[in-house]
Amino acid sequence: MLTIELFIIHKHVMGNEQKAIVPNERWMYNCFVHYNREYFDNSLPIPKFSTECDSSLWGSYAPEFFYDTNSRRVVDIRGNGTIKLNGMYKRTVDSWVLTLLHEMAHEYMFMVMKVYPENPHGREFEAIAKYIRRKSGGVWNITETTEKVSTDMKVRKRRQV
Ligand SMILES: [Zn+2]
Repeated sequence: MLTIELFIIHKHVMGNEQKAIVPNERWMYNCFVHYNREYFDNSLPIPKFSTECDSSLWGSYAPEFFYDTNSRRVVDIRGNGTIKLNGMYKRTVDSWVLTLLHEMAHEYMFMVMKVYPENPHGREFEAIAKYIRRKSGGVWNITETTEKVSTDMKVRKRRQV
């Protein structure tokens, strides 16, 4: 089973970076497991996965917690949240991986660092982005400004949240 899983991950993630796909929940789970090990030391709890996403976004992370407005600390986490990728669009595998890694970085801030900064793409996010960039040898750059441009004209100028 493990061999099959690794083969699927290899086929989807390593072998077909330029192949255009519509993401599904199984693919998201396989990639999540792979990159959780690769860049997050398996620290991320498995979230729910969904392809039903705000139509203006490539992806999003919806947490399930409350936070203390005074300390700006996350309190009372009710679940691991949901990572969403927009199932209405076909993009290259590496574009989707980039979006997934971006959302995993948001999950890391909330679920592991337990911070809820005013700017969700502030210094905490930048630190994670820098780490992934360095560890991947410059392959994955998840910051907003350098997000890879999609071939899909309809949403190419819109931002991830
Ligand atoms: Zn974001």
